[in-house]
Amino acid sequence: MADPKGFLNHGREVAKSRPVDVRLKDWNEVYVPGSLLPIISKQASRCMDCGIPFCHNGCPLGNLIPEWNDYAYREDWSAASERLHATNNFPEFTGRLCPAPCESACVLGINQSPVTIKNVEVSIIDKAWETGDVAPQAPERLSGKTVAVIGSGPAGLAAAQQLTRAGHTVAVYERADRVGGLLRYGIPEFKMEKRHINRRIEQMRAEGTRFRTGVEVGRDINARDLKKRYDAIVIAAGSTTARDLPVPGRELNGIHQAMEFLPLANKVQEGDYVTAPISAEGKHVVVIGGGDTGADCVGTAHRQGAASVTQLEIMPRPNDERHPTNQPWPTFPILYKVTSAHEEGGERIYSASTTHFEGDEDGNVQWLHLAEVEFVDGKLTQKPGSERKIPAQLVTLAMGFTGIDRENGLVEQFGLELDERGNVARDAAFQTNVPGVFVAGDAGRGQSLIVWAIAEGRSAARGVDRFLTGASDLPAPIRPT
Ligand code: SF4
Repeated sequence: MADPKGFLNHGREVAKSRPVDVRLKDWNEVYVPGSLLPIISKQASRCMDCGIPFCHNGCPLGNLIPEWNDYAYREDWSAASERLHATNNFPEFTGRLCPAPCESACVLGINQSPVTIKNVEVSIIDKAWETGDVAPQAPERLSGKTVAVIGSGPAGLAAAQQLTRAGHTVAVYERADRVGGLLRYGIPEFKMEKRHINRRIEQMRAEGTRFRTGVEVGRDINARDLKKRYDAIVIAAGSTTARDLPVPGRELNGIHQAMEFLPLANKVQEGDYVTAPISAEGKHVVVIGGGDTGADCVGTAHRQGAASVTQLEIMPRPNDERHPTNQPWPTFPILYKVTSAHEEGGERIYSASTTHFEGDEDGNVQWLHLAEVEFVDGKLTQKPGSERKIPAQLVTLAMGFTGIDRENGLVEQFGLELDERGNVARDAAFQTNVPGVFVAGDAGRGQSLIVWAIAEGRSAARGVDRFLTGASDLPAPIRPT
């Protein structure tokens, strides 16, 4: 184990962030480059190597956290990287973007601050890239089988990498102009710089994975034709049907889905010319939705020069005694993240429900009317007399997603069955009702975390490998829900 007295001798210390006024001037990651490595050995030493490491259970990937904590404590970065990659294809993504359910599950968190598992993870992988420990792992021989993966987000990439390394010939189809899916156009640069995606894609190309961008299966290629060309298919197209807010005034100009606002901002950061950008500059911005996507809108609006940014959350403030999930441990960081974006300013209003929007004579939104809500007999109910309005010249809706795209033809062309939540139904091997067609990630599970998407991709890859060859040594860290 790491230092037996580490947790007694060292308190929790996390990555240092750049000052708010400095980082708001650019789009780079918010952390001070190089600030973690000098402290990470001591932080890793706080791990108690628990007999029952609850952190394992907290992580869908089953990351071998005490093992790589020990190697990080000893500064054996190469061994740490090997242990890290044993369960996770892309630790540089989870180390930056995951809300770390492992830390919520950490036993040390009972009476101290938990181990900084996420910071240890990202330190190991950054060091591994720096020292050349992350090399392509091309298969020794090919199976002669072909697989098409639809979607290049974290689930699709994980499935593609696992299947390529298992010897299958894999092509990834991506409807956007660049590979990465949600990682590329949903996540702002200040949370994860795109260079991390680019170098992973280069590794995958070197291993043999092929990428076809700008091709939407269902629209540009008929799914039935794709099925004839490949021995197996993995649908990893995400859960992209955004939940809407059907209240009066929704049709006004200036009200956008978060996944309209964020991709355009990300395209600008990629250096693309965007004909109709959505800019927050000089505007009073209201973000509806208190999750991570909402926080990404907050940070983006600040960097675009918003006059004010307000984020609305319908649920009560965390730790509010009225909150249904209020409890001391484990905490629920996933539900109520305080992200770097919230350190940068703006207001958060809890227990707030939007009643309607008000616009000017040109049809542009100007005001958002809201009411306070409270739980009455288990139901969120508007408090009489609590109505008020706040300025809103740009509104982003970040209220989650309700399933796979049902308009591009993919579902009908394959003949897929959906479950009651609008996700693609699958069996224990991640296979849909159509033999040879599998589903991984948000398209099957519904909207979830990147770490779950990677776990889904890895698990679906095992199902595909067994389908193609009759057996598989690939791991399946999770079962479908
Ligand atoms: Fe270490 Fe926490 Fe995992 Fe225990 S639960 S092994 S202290 S990281």
